[in-house]
Formats: sequence, structure tokens, C-alpha cells
Amino acid sequence: MEDIQKLLKQYYGYDSFRKGQEEVIRRILSGRDVSVVMPTGAGKSLCYQLPALAFPGITLIISPLISLMQDQVRALLTIGVRAAYLNSTLTPGQIRLALRNAAKGMYKLIYVAPERLESEEFLDFARGADISLLVVDESHCISQWGHDFRPSYLRIADFIQTLPRRPVVAAFTATATQRVREDIVRWLRLRKPYSMTTGFDRENLYFGVLIAPQKLEFLLGYLNQHREQSGIIYCTSRRAVETVADCLQKYGYSALSYHGGMQDEDRKRNQEAFLNDRARIMVATNAFGMGIDKPDVRFVIHYHLAQNLEEYYQQAGRAGRDGAPADCILLYCRKDVNVCRDMILKTYEGISDLSEEDKKYREAALNRLQMMAGYASSQTVCLRKKILTYFGESYYGSCHNCSVCNGDSLMRYRAPQNREPQDKNMVEEALLERLKQFRRQEARRQGVPEYVILSDLGLCQLAAEKPRQFTGLLRINGMGESKCRRFGEAFLQIIRQYEAEKTTK
Ligand code: ADP
Ligand code: MG
Repeated sequence: MEDIQKLLKQYYGYDSFRKGQEEVIRRILSGRDVSVVMPTGAGKSLCYQLPALAFPGITLIISPLISLMQDQVRALLTIGVRAAYLNSTLTPGQIRLALRNAAKGMYKLIYVAPERLESEEFLDFARGADISLLVVDESHCISQWGHDFRPSYLRIADFIQTLPRRPVVAAFTATATQRVREDIVRWLRLRKPYSMTTGFDRENLYFGVLIAPQKLEFLLGYLNQHREQSGIIYCTSRRAVETVADCLQKYGYSALSYHGGMQDEDRKRNQEAFLNDRARIMVATNAFGMGIDKPDVRFVIHYHLAQNLEEYYQQAGRAGRDGAPADCILLYCRKDVNVCRDMILKTYEGISDLSEEDKKYREAALNRLQMMAGYASSQTVCLRKKILTYFGESYYGSCHNCSVCNGDSLMRYRAPQNREPQDKNMVEEALLERLKQFRRQEARRQGVPEYVILSDLGLCQLAAEKPRQFTGLLRINGMGESKCRRFGEAFLQIIRQYEAEKTTK
């Protein structure tokens, strides 16, 4: 078995695993089923991608969202890993071709939507293929107790049974509640799974609540201080999405909208523009974002209350996946609770005879809303503590990174300027600017998001360490062998040129 540490460096350019990753990877490689709960942004993909590289056969990943598959495949190709996805964006001809390639062993990783498991053509392929590992990403979709329930997830277990050899099965989600976790093990029929729940804290996230009616005023002030950064603004209703997006556009922001009432193609176009950094701000309903893997989202602002803390934390957690500081701010007013309550009740309206089960779900949903409101109106208890306690984790003391602990008055809240990951004193601003410019050009040229070229963290490290040689590049976070080959010379060139200009000045 290849050394996983070596693979981590070679492909991803990372020096160390994050919390929990190594244990999970080792369990999978030893042939054990796993069920993993890690918060959004913790690095779940790596937990199955690395075993996929080490296993002899194919790794099949069942993933609920097309955009997620595309992102991941794009990122894998950039680091030199053969991967493909099968989903409805492909023509039947393309799918046939991909399956033929797959059968020849051309891909190490194949992403599929759960619905694909019902296609005869795909089943034919799967029965003849050497599948080492089957991954169920966003595995909470299998449970009615979570959000985003997807009935087709329930067929995964049957699919596994049709395979000639049972692969290792690995489930991943960010939803922690006990019931959801039980459903995952049960419905996937995991065998003696190694269950792991890492801590839920995301230290790099700032949590803030602003209790005020002047939401728009705050938003405009905030955005003015965070130009050039990517962020998401969540609203409850489609109409609110339109209104807020329109307003921001009038003020000159590159804001787009995303909600369930839009045409598929418009939605898709907006999402692509956001992911590829052509637009910086996405105003959306909760239809946006499950599995959105854009690591450089610097803020998530909730214009309205979420229905519960699971939903809130998952949406807010889309900020700062790259580990650099990011803001999660909730704009709250009392009447938002009523709006949410009405939405929950409406789901069950018109059903003439509610079953006991339905009543239980409704009750649970209302209770969870109460907890959400409790978070929003917390005056004295640290917001981070509120969240972690909700997920069953204990947290002591105060975090010094939320509006309660810091006593922030958010209307006047100014994020510390230039909160980039590295120690700013060490980073040469002018050089960083040039590196960013190169990254932007390169991303445009290839039609990929900027982070696929290099993360904000890696870029700052470049500007701080200013490596002169290839060996120096390999020390930069995120610079694996493939990226060094592709962009290394260009980065070194920029640094050399910069240094030369500095000495002649
Ligand atoms: P999740 O699926 O848990 O929400 P992802 O798998 O999308 O999170 O990972 C989030 C980000 O963290 C990605 O940009 C990924 O490249 C980065 N990442 C994952 N593992 C590591 C690591 N060991 N060191 C540095 N960055 C990592
Ligand atoms: Mg993920």
C-alpha cells in the first residue's frame, strides 16, 4: 500500500492531514466501512479521494448535485488524477463513451447522481467493473430526519448487493443528529462501520447576529468594506432574492440570484458565474449551495432566519472552507420567526389526515425553529457555544470570534482590514497583487475557478516566502507535483521579476 502521507504531498501539495482525515483514510484502506460526520469545509473529499488513489480498482462516488461533481472532477484533473462524472448534463452518446472508457479502467474516480443507479446501461457497467470503494457523499440525503431527503438514496443498498464483489462503503455528511446518523448506517446497510464524528467547531469562522430592521443598510455597508471578495446572501423567499439582488446591482455590485423559481439554464449560468469568479455575490434561497465546493467564499450573510440550526450551520459553513478567516452573519428580526413557522406549517397543510409520523416531524421542525430563534436572540451566551451545544458538543469559555464574545455592534462592524491568512507583515502586497492577477488570467484561460489554480492561503504563502527555486515551491500549501509542473515556472518568474524590479528601484 502506498504511503498516504506521500500521496497527500504528491497530489495535493499538503503537508499534513486535518483532524480526523488520517483515521478515516486508514480505516477505509483496511477494508472497513465508515460513516463519517465532519462539518462543511473540514475536508471530507480528501478522506475518500486518497483511498481511491491507493486502491487498485475504481472508486464510485454517489453525489446529489451536478455542480458538485463537476467541481470535484475539475479539481482532480488539475492535480493529475483521472476522474469523470456521469450526469444529466451529458448526452446519451457521451455517457456511453464515458462508460466504455470507465470499463477500460481509464478513471480512478467516477461521480454519479443516485438516479444513475437505475439506468440499465450503468448497472451493466457496474456489474462488470472492479469497484474497490463506494462513497456516499452528503449521506444525510438518505434520511427523512435531515433536510434534503432524496428517495433515490434509499436504493443504494440494493445497488451494492447487485455488485459481484462488495466494495468498501464509505458515507460522509455534515449533518450530525443522532437520528440521521442511525438512518445512514441502517439504510445503507453498513457492515460494522467505523463511525466518526469530529468536532464541529470551525475556528476560522466569525459568527455574528445583527438584531435590526435596517438590513439593507447593513448589507451595503458591509459589502462596501468587502469588495473583491466572494460571498453568499441567503434569503427565505424568491421575491426577497430578486429584490436584494436588484438593489445590489443598482449599487454596482456583481450580484446574481439563484432560486427554485428560475429557469434551469438561468440558475445554472448564475451558479457557474459565481463559481468561476465572474460574479462575486450570490443572492439565493436555500435551493443554492448543497455541496457547493467553493473554498474562497469569504462571507455568508443570512438576510432572513434559517429554519433550524442544521440548515443555518450548513449554509454558513460554506464560508471559509480554505481555512482562511470568513464571516457568517445573521440579520435578525422577530417577525422572521413567524415567517418560518408559517412555512413549516404550510408543508403539512392540506394533508387531510396527518399520520402520527407526520405530526412528529412537524413538531420536531417547530422545535428546531425555536432553537434557531434562540441562537438569533442570544445576548450573553457565545454564539459558537450555542451552535456546538446544539450538536451535542461541549464548549467552555468564550470564543472571542463572535458578536456576543466581542460585544460587536454590527452596524458599525468593520472586519479587520485585509484579513488574509498569513501574517500580513510578511506578505508583500504588491507581489500578492501580481500573483492574484496571474491566477485570475490563468483561471479565465482554462475556464476554471481561481482556487483551482491555487488557494488564497497558498497565494499568500507564495508572497510571504518568495521561493526562488522549484524545491521552494513544493513547500507551498496546495502545490503538488502536478501544479508545480503546470504553474511553477510562471510563479517563479513573477517572483524573480518582482525582486529584480525591487533591487533596481
Ligand atoms: P467538505 O466536503 O468536508 O465540506 P471539502 O472536501 O470540500 O470539504 O474540503 C474543503 C477544502 O479544504 C478544500 O478546498 C480542500 O482542498 C481543503 N483541504 C482538505 N484537506 C486538507 C488538508 N489536509 N490540508 C489543507 N487543505 C485541505
Ligand atoms: Mg463535501
